[in-house]
Amino acid sequence: MTAAATHPAHDSRHALVLFSGGQDSTACLAWALDRYAHVETVGFDYGQRHRVELGCREPIRQAMAGLNPDWAARLGDDHLLDLGIVGQLGNSALTEERAIQMDDNGLPNTFVPGRNLLFLTVAAALAYRRAASVLVGGMCETDYSGYPDCRDNTLKAMQVALSLGLATPLTLETPLMFLTKAQTWALSHALGGAALNRLIVDLTHTCYLGEREPLHSWGRGCGSCPACLLRKSGHASWLRHSGEGAA
Ligand code: ZN
Repeated sequence: MTAAATHPAHDSRHALVLFSGGQDSTACLAWALDRYAHVETVGFDYGQRHRVELGCREPIRQAMAGLNPDWAARLGDDHLLDLGIVGQLGNSALTEERAIQMDDNGLPNTFVPGRNLLFLTVAAALAYRRAASVLVGGMCETDYSGYPDCRDNTLKAMQVALSLGLATPLTLETPLMFLTKAQTWALSHALGGAALNRLIVDLTHTCYLGEREPLHSWGRGCGSCPACLLRKSGHASWLRHSGEGAA
């Protein structure tokens, strides 16, 4: 399978991508660069244990611009916002040194209640300031349906609330919402070919423990935390179904 030819942006709107430096948000950035005339990125520093991913953001942006001159022309400013209040809310394995496990309520203890609602609200305010009318996020119901603020209905409700509250139409796009992790690898391959998937393996961050070594065929990380396991199995599944062993 060869990379899908990148078509000229067919949507003149400006988009703001919630960009963490992980696999999902990098796939979303590629998706947005393929569609929109102008694409900016926003990241949040909330005291996450895997803060190392924030340092991955700019190298990924630069590498993606280097993959495709159209993407380079469309890629705009990056914004990094301090949301330390998330860490102050406490009691999450995402921001504290605790073992990652499932809680009695069926949610992983990496769950930070309302985190994505906060992110979307802040991103929408920034989008307003930057004259962007589309927010793109990597929220996903598949695989990790444990996060209620990532569900499609939550996002649809947020789109209405934010559009009303800002008195301007705002579209929330979640291209990964119903994709498995294997399908996310397939999406990035369709958008940027083997070069983009190699970039994702090498430069993006997923590991909850913040580990960047060793480099596996599926990416960097400890190889045993839930985020690493999900990424590893998704990549293996994609390889099985695509025959893209070299990617
Ligand atoms: Zn890990």
